[in-house]
Amino acid sequence: MSIGYINGKYIPLNERAIPLEERGYQFGDGIYEVIRVYNGKPFMLNEHLERLIKSGNGIKLKIQQSIEEFRSLVNEAIAKSGLADCCVYLQITRGISARNHLFPDVPISISMTVKPVVPLQKSIREKGAAAIIHEDERWANCYIKSLNLLPNVLARQTAFEKGCFEAILVRGAMVTEGTSSNVFIVKQGKVYTTPLSRNILAGITRMAVKKSCKEVSVEIIEQAFSKEELFQADEVFITNTTSEIVPIVKVDGQIIGNGLPGEYTLKLYHKLQQFVADLKE
Ligand code: PMP
Repeated sequence: MSIGYINGKYIPLNERAIPLEERGYQFGDGIYEVIRVYNGKPFMLNEHLERLIKSGNGIKLKIQQSIEEFRSLVNEAIAKSGLADCCVYLQITRGISARNHLFPDVPISISMTVKPVVPLQKSIREKGAAAIIHEDERWANCYIKSLNLLPNVLARQTAFEKGCFEAILVRGAMVTEGTSSNVFIVKQGKVYTTPLSRNILAGITRMAVKKSCKEVSVEIIEQAFSKEELFQADEVFITNTTSEIVPIVKVDGQIIGNGLPGEYTLKLYHKLQQFVADLKE
């Protein structure tokens, strides 16, 4: 059963109980994580919680809870939902207080939802997806998983309206990441991905792909690449927690490689599935 949680209380998901002067609601003053759960077990939970704390520090949020406490909370919510394959959305905001830009002296708000995973369409998994190139109009601290997602929402909607799955963002000529994914290209048997900086989110799936590359002896190079290099790549794929690895076979109407999910993309996807299978045991 899908469930919700806010500040110590489990509530039905359809209970729309957000106080009007919640800072997440009025300012987008908060951070979040999305954690994938396979067979009741959260995937790379520690890494997600470490990133949560890093995001919190990035916006000067006073988080008193330890990683251990968050881990218990997430596991408790998963158990309460009774869902085996699901996603946990965990959000922290600067709390509830009369609207004022300055930080209030109130407790942070912690909320969660646990819902079944909406699986990636089988046809996309098998045939790949299309993407567009879109200007990266976001702020200078994209390493923070902030609630302020308006530029991501607008770019993604533009992609959707053009019949595409994702918008690949560029600053100048260089690819940063997707609206909710990290971007990889494969050229002559080597995998390239944008290096970590303030311009991109340090994706947890990106981390898992790096590990997969090591295990299957494929070289992975963290090096910036341009949209032109992306068009010329043999393969392109994107990664995130909910969709794992998605082959991108067409960008701005141009076919990538031979127009099918590539050998390296599939190899890395299968390796990731092995990590998941190990987790399930
Ligand atoms: N970049 C952005 C902007 C994202 O929103 C996401 C999804 N959280 C990612 C990258 C991929 O991160 P992860 O693999 O941790 O889901």
